[in-house]
Amino acid sequence: MPPTSRSRAAFDRARRVLPGGVNSPVRAFKAVGGVPRFIARGQGPHVWDVDGNRYVDYVLSWGPLIVGHAHPEVVRAICEQAGLGTSYGAPTEAETALAELIADMVPSVEVVRLVNSGTEATMSALRLARAFTNRPKIVKMEGHYHGHADHLLVSAGSGVATFGLPNSPGVLPAVAQETIVIPFNDLEAAEALFERVGDQVAAVILEPVAGNMGVVPPQPGYLEGLRELTRAHGALLIFDEVMTGFRVHLGGAQALYGVEPDLTTLGKVIGGGLPVGAYGGRREIMELVAPEGPVYQAGTLSGNPLAVRAGLVTLELIRQPGAFEAMVRRAERLAQGMVRIAREAGLPATGHQVGTMFSLFFAEGPITTYADAKGSDTDLYARFFHAMLEAGVYLAPSQFEAAFLSTAHTDEIIDFTLEATAQAVNRL
Ligand SMILES: *Cc1c(COP(=O)(O)O)cnc(C)c1O
Repeated sequence: MPPTSRSRAAFDRARRVLPGGVNSPVRAFKAVGGVPRFIARGQGPHVWDVDGNRYVDYVLSWGPLIVGHAHPEVVRAICEQAGLGTSYGAPTEAETALAELIADMVPSVEVVRLVNSGTEATMSALRLARAFTNRPKIVKMEGHYHGHADHLLVSAGSGVATFGLPNSPGVLPAVAQETIVIPFNDLEAAEALFERVGDQVAAVILEPVAGNMGVVPPQPGYLEGLRELTRAHGALLIFDEVMTGFRVHLGGAQALYGVEPDLTTLGKVIGGGLPVGAYGGRREIMELVAPEGPVYQAGTLSGNPLAVRAGLVTLELIRQPGAFEAMVRRAERLAQGMVRIAREAGLPATGHQVGTMFSLFFAEGPITTYADAKGSDTDLYARFFHAMLEAGVYLAPSQFEAAFLSTAHTDEIIDFTLEATAQAVNRL
């Protein structure tokens, strides 16, 4: 057993002053038990905890670190900017450059507003959708997570799924009532809903590839069907690409599947490991955002120079010829290898991999809905998770999360991970 005494002490200390010892729930290891590892540093594909253990990191800050930890060019950009000042509350040219790059890469985005988190991005996009359509209702999918805004914290997957909270106390029923939840990958459910209340729906929001119930891709025709349905009923289609943006394809899921939403929310990768979110879309809609239009939305640190510079460098790095394709090839090899090793050990295993994201579900499959994902063996996952930690691999501490690759996850790192998987399954 690798030592954990310093992490244990750090956790005890943290729990006295932070709820659950953490600043975001899933970090606390509640779903898998044991002591959360307190991290001392990261470099490339690795993190080291305070006890000196090294792990290959597949959490990558929950997605953002697509070029790995402390990439020299990202570090250089951040240091250079820090020396010039960290925030001005006035416009900078770098913000425009990042907006141009996003508009260039993401097919449906013409105009974009930068914010500080994914939560802020989805919250603001929905306010905008309601203003644009002058309608109240939002449709979301079971098990999809869009941040912790009140009206989106209904059947919200991820940390919420892990803890089995159907909802959160403190969310007013009146607010939750305007959010309608339907099953993902069920076009008939969407059609029936629009048949009933289609004229009240401002927007359908979804993760085009679900990532917060574990990775679950859309069924063929599903995104296209939602596109037609929303258009026919005058509702907006919002792709929450906070996770999938620049992760499943350089142009997001909308480029991968060839379906253009009206609005897109982004985050994670576009900040290169610093806090950023963004929402954008058709000019006609985005023109409603203040100060151009009446829909108010602001932020003291929005478009923060450090985050924008880190994001710009990160996007440029993954756009280098072959870089993204190499990552996807390795993700494929890793996901297929892990599933094969688990099955050979007699475990139920279903693997889903899209671009640089993947999940290994301990379930026979197929998995297309949240109900299917919830059928996974979470106890088995918890044991597997700890066996992998012991073998030097840090996966997400929950069955209902994606694993992420970076450009720093070389073929040698993939080989190491597959060997660790073989050791881990033999110890279960
Ligand atoms: C992470 C995530 C969010 C929330 O982003 P934060 O930056 O954590 O607020 C929203 N939507 C999706 C799809 C996410 O994966």
